[in-house]
Amino acid sequence: MNNLTNGDCKMSIRELDRQYVAGTYKRFPVEIVEGKGSLVKAADGREYIDMGSGIAVTSFGIADPVWAKAVADQAAKVQHTSNLYYTEPCAKLAEQLCLRTGMKKVFFGNSGAEANECAIKVARKYAAEKKGPEFSTIVTLRNSFHGRTLTTLAATGQDHYHELFGPLTPGFVHVTAGDLDELKEVCEREKVAGVLVECVQGEGGVVPLDGDYVKGAAEYLNENDILFMVDEVQTGNGRTGQLYAYMNFGVMPDVVSTAKGLAGGLPLGACLIGEKAENVLGFGDHGSTFGGNPVCCAAALSILDRIDDNLLSEVRRKSKYLFDTIGGGEGIESVSGMGLMIGIKTAKPASEVVAKCMERGVLCLTAKDRVRLLPALNIPDALLEKAAAVILEAAKED
Ligand SMILES: *Cc1c(COP(=O)(O)O)cnc(C)c1O
Repeated sequence: MNNLTNGDCKMSIRELDRQYVAGTYKRFPVEIVEGKGSLVKAADGREYIDMGSGIAVTSFGIADPVWAKAVADQAAKVQHTSNLYYTEPCAKLAEQLCLRTGMKKVFFGNSGAEANECAIKVARKYAAEKKGPEFSTIVTLRNSFHGRTLTTLAATGQDHYHELFGPLTPGFVHVTAGDLDELKEVCEREKVAGVLVECVQGEGGVVPLDGDYVKGAAEYLNENDILFMVDEVQTGNGRTGQLYAYMNFGVMPDVVSTAKGLAGGLPLGACLIGEKAENVLGFGDHGSTFGGNPVCCAAALSILDRIDDNLLSEVRRKSKYLFDTIGGGEGIESVSGMGLMIGIKTAKPASEVVAKCMERGVLCLTAKDRVRLLPALNIPDALLEKAAAVILEAAKED
């Protein structure tokens, strides 16, 4: 075929990407062509240990055979039907999510932002019907991240994401994580429909919420019939050593949003709705063309099925290994996080440590001023040990 798009001289993939893909992503200088589990291979033949999982998405690694078979089998049956018809993967996945959480209903979308949009709609309609339409305020935390749509940007409690995109959706108030008095004060002053929190702030630097704060907030919101909503887009699906991070805190939310690792690498988001609001969404209230797509749901069913007690205890064991091994290392200031969602404060700038790790064959992420690790939930011990040694080496002062 005539290589028209490339012009006369063939452009490299990197050049093509820079010319034609919107410049929203500052990519690392690596072109990934394939992988196996927690190892990825670049176009130049180099192999890397993957400590990022596509930002907590490839739950069981790259091209995992069980996951790939579930996807291929469903793709060969029916890949899409629209939501005008029933399909088995969608119904079964919703059932499994409810059985495993105690939630009552699931709305499927395609991303984390959409899962949060749904949560916000649920809270607003619930409050409008119970207390009146003026009860529309959604409270979120400072330093939070909830997505890039104009409404989830408004929910996101970090100003730098907002600049030049105003006006954002009105009706959001941000409070400081850990300050229960401020939360109560805002709930008394404003007409609040719901409160949305991440149990571990991911993009905010891998910062877990205080346990007493989460319990206190859940209790207060329940007493005041304000929906307690947890954004489990990053923390969910086994990432923190429990199926959902709220389970580490002994609370029961009214709404749970999730996405990222849910389908192990295909786009799927879900908004899980608890008993209080289970019948809030009716015919025509919400929708999504691709939401609940059978291939994505079949993938998610295969993932959820493997997030069992054994896997979760493995996640906790590997987490402890990382905390123990990396914490206290030379040039390491602190380690934060939960399960296999880990933030490392290094004496050197995080981006410098990440670049050094990449040179030494380990792909890590950053979150704010930290090195962030989100390896596959089933990363083999040998690779985890290798990666930890490389990170320690990279964090050392030169
Ligand atoms: C990634 C993320 C989102 C946004 O998810 P998208 O799929 O990119 O829309 C929302 N909330 C949290 C906590 C996230 O980590």
